[in-house]
Formats: sequence, structure tokens, C-alpha cells
Amino acid sequence: MEFRSFECKGCGTVIWVPETQDDPLYCPICRSGMTEVEIKPDEKAKVFTCPECGNEFLMTKPPYKCAYCNYTFPTTPYLRQEERL
Ligand SMILES: [Zn+2]
Ligand SMILES: [Zn+2]
Repeated sequence: MEFRSFECKGCGTVIWVPETQDDPLYCPICRSGMTEVEIKPDEKAKVFTCPECGNEFLMTKPPYKCAYCNYTFPTTPYLRQEERL
């Protein structure tokens, strides 16, 4: 799969999205706008899929919010939410 890369104008966060997907709307960390850049996917980047809108994106650190909608990711992304009682 081919990816396009986007960089945040505010905090410099870089994300990658599948070529076939729309441009991300906001930075997953600070919610600023993003500009398309040419950076190869980082080996440490992990895929995050939004359960709300179904879009996916790659990042090297856990996102705060979805890059496409208003979904907030759990602060401990490796634990399922129902385990946090
Ligand atoms: Zn940002
Ligand atoms: Zn979303």
C-alpha cells in the first residue's frame, strides 16, 4: 500500500495516510491544519484506526484525537476501554 505524508503546521507531528484515503483534516495531537509533505513512513509508525469514522493513519506516537473526526482515543491505547473500571 502507498502512503501520503502530512505534517502539522503547529507542532510538527507527521502522519501517513493510505493513498486512497482523503486528506486528514486536523493534527491528531494539537488539531492544527496539516500540509502535505514527502516523508517516507517511519519504521516505528503504528497504524491507528478510528472506531468512529473508520479512517486509518500511521503515527510514531499515540494520537490524542482522530485526524478526520472528533473522536478522542483512550489515553492508554493498548488497553481496551472496558478493562478500565
Ligand atoms: Zn499538531
Ligand atoms: Zn475518526
